[in-house]
Amino acid sequence: MTKERTFIAIKPDGVQRGYVSEIIGRFEKKGFKLVGLKQLIPSKELAQNHYGVHRERPFFGDLVDFISSGPVVAMVWEGKGVILSARKLIGATKPLEAEPGTIRGDLAIDIGRNIIHGSDGEDTAKFEIDLWFNEEELCEWQTSDSKWRSEN
Ligand code: UDP
Ligand code: MG
Repeated sequence: MTKERTFIAIKPDGVQRGYVSEIIGRFEKKGFKLVGLKQLIPSKELAQNHYGVHRERPFFGDLVDFISSGPVVAMVWEGKGVILSARKLIGATKPLEAEPGTIRGDLAIDIGRNIIHGSDGEDTAKFEIDLWFNEEELCEWQTSDSKWRSEN
């Protein structure tokens, strides 16, 4: 059984625009398993840590202000290949370059309002899950139809 997990966040624009159910639905329909879910208004410190790799970039200040400006829906999803698959479901960083059918391709226009975050690799997934969630906030559980979703 795979334990691959990724961190997904619906940013304040996605929450404000009423896309929480739409976005969760896409991950559910794909077959991934929700193991952590909460809504919070992130502190500046949390936003700065989360986007620490971009600290030197010119958009960093605006990005941190935006992410901490309102409710974010933070999630952990589990399943075979979930890290890369989630990035594909999300689409390119610039929504105008994201393919139709992807979340950003269907639902967003602007890079600064691209509605969703997804971890970009194994190391960042682990870092981001640990940053946003305590271990006891994550559920170990089996879907009743797990063998119909994935062979292993
Ligand atoms: N971002 C931005 N302007 C830029 C580049 C990035 O506002 O020129 C924001 C955007 O919200 C993006 C986030 O910074 O989602 C993180 O950038 P990254 O390159 O890691 O994109 P992602 O992993 O979200 O696709
Ligand atoms: Mg990124």
